[in-house]
Amino acid sequence: TENTNVLFTIFGATGDLAKRKLYPSLFRLYKKGDLNECFAVIGTARRPWSDDYYHEVVKEAIASLNPTPEEAEKFASHFYYQSHDVSDTSHYTVLKDLTNKLNEKYQLGGNRLYYLAMSPRFFGTIVTQLKESGMLATNGYHRVIIEKPFGSDFKSANELNNEINQVFAEKDIYRIDHYLGKEMVQNISAIRFANNLFESLWNQRYIDNVQITLAENLGVEDRGGYYDQSGALKDMVQNHILQVLSLLAMEPPVAFTEEAIRSEKIKALNAIRLYSEKEVQENFVRGQYTKGKLADKEFIDYRHEPNVAEDSNTETFVAGKFLIDNFRWSGVPFYVRTGKRLTEKGTRINIVFKQVPINVFRSSTTEVGTQSELPPNVLTIYIQPTEGFSMSLNGKEIGQGYSTKPVKLDYRNTAEMVENSPEAYERLIFDALNGDSTNFTHWDEVAQSWRIVDRIRFAWDKQTPDFPNYAAGTMGPQAAFDLLEKDGFNWIWQP
Ligand code: NAD
Repeated sequence: TENTNVLFTIFGATGDLAKRKLYPSLFRLYKKGDLNECFAVIGTARRPWSDDYYHEVVKEAIASLNPTPEEAEKFASHFYYQSHDVSDTSHYTVLKDLTNKLNEKYQLGGNRLYYLAMSPRFFGTIVTQLKESGMLATNGYHRVIIEKPFGSDFKSANELNNEINQVFAEKDIYRIDHYLGKEMVQNISAIRFANNLFESLWNQRYIDNVQITLAENLGVEDRGGYYDQSGALKDMVQNHILQVLSLLAMEPPVAFTEEAIRSEKIKALNAIRLYSEKEVQENFVRGQYTKGKLADKEFIDYRHEPNVAEDSNTETFVAGKFLIDNFRWSGVPFYVRTGKRLTEKGTRINIVFKQVPINVFRSSTTEVGTQSELPPNVLTIYIQPTEGFSMSLNGKEIGQGYSTKPVKLDYRNTAEMVENSPEAYERLIFDALNGDSTNFTHWDEVAQSWRIVDRIRFAWDKQTPDFPNYAAGTMGPQAAFDLLEKDGFNWIWQP
């Protein structure tokens, strides 16, 4: 389609994200024909690379996708490098000339997609300069894709948003949350709204609690400098966790359209209780890893990771309970946890259903009305590394007598299906090309998520945490387990 006749300008073209995600995703789109020969990419960054050198970098970035040498060559020929310091205004004139030249050469109809793959502190400068240089005054669309983090609290996010809004309309701003590009996150809506079995039970009458875990087994790797300024709350909860939560909690949209879904997500976020300081202390716990050992591997403590302060009080773990004050969810805790150097890498959702009113299989010595010994029905959605869902039920144990035992219905996408399905960044770039922002984050969602998270940060910043408090290779501090236990629950996933 003509929508994909487009000029990409990637700010931060020499960076890690560009190499690991953007070039491979563009190649996948190219190979499938979603991008035809009418596209060009301008890569910009400070380093003085030549086009030839840039082509080598691009080819190396796509090598693992096994292109033929001709394919790789042809794909790379669409890439142009422009050395550029984003804060130097004169550079935008050079960029503009190259842009116009490529527009002619590839017949792009003025369509532009700007990808800001660099530190957010430059976002404002870049968009302002794009406008002032006159680069946005062409026919065709002008869209901007923005990487996380979008601000570091409500105030800074709002300032950044105002700056960007001077240049781009909300409909042309695509705020990336790569979790929204994941197959099984998109599948949450299918599971809920295409199955009467689930949607009719999806409320406080039948659901006991909801658990969302985004666990990483890695430490901070080479991102210590960034991470130490951010921490798990801002890095994971503000964006990914609250996005997943809003998809689980929202009301059914009237149609599966961008506007309808967005308006329901925003309503769900708006119904999340904003905690007082005291409520934060009761409902949220934080952790930082100390050294630890897991299956013969030894890990150092967070404070000795590269570029991390030796007395750092940055949290590498968060667990918490959100409450949603609406008819559907009143009284149902949404437990969330995320952290680094945990036992296992994995993102999963557990929907824990209520017990049957009476356990008729209880032993004759158990009184009616006391805690039933049946395990709960649990719907688990596996987001990564495996993708699928499972349902645990209670069945009869084979044999004489009548005891029950848990059975599990399990569905996983095969490794082959996962391999062949589009990667998150590929889906999202494809959507942006087609003007579909369903799987991007609207400003209203960003704003409300920051309001929620700012309350937690504010309360935490008033007290010095007792860090470090969990060993690398475990599932976080004891307080994260106590959080559920005091409500009479447990984490369903205990690797
Ligand atoms: P990076 O540090 O690897 O790359 C930054 C890029 O910006 C480089 O190309 C660098 O040359 C360029 N740059 C820096 N200062 C410049 C200047 N004054 N003028 C012109 N160019 C300049 O960073 P990254 O890991 O690629 O991340 C980029 C963005 O993506 C960040 O917002 C980050 O938070 C986000 N992000 C990255 C990842 C990831 O996996 N790497 C994941 C999610 C989000």
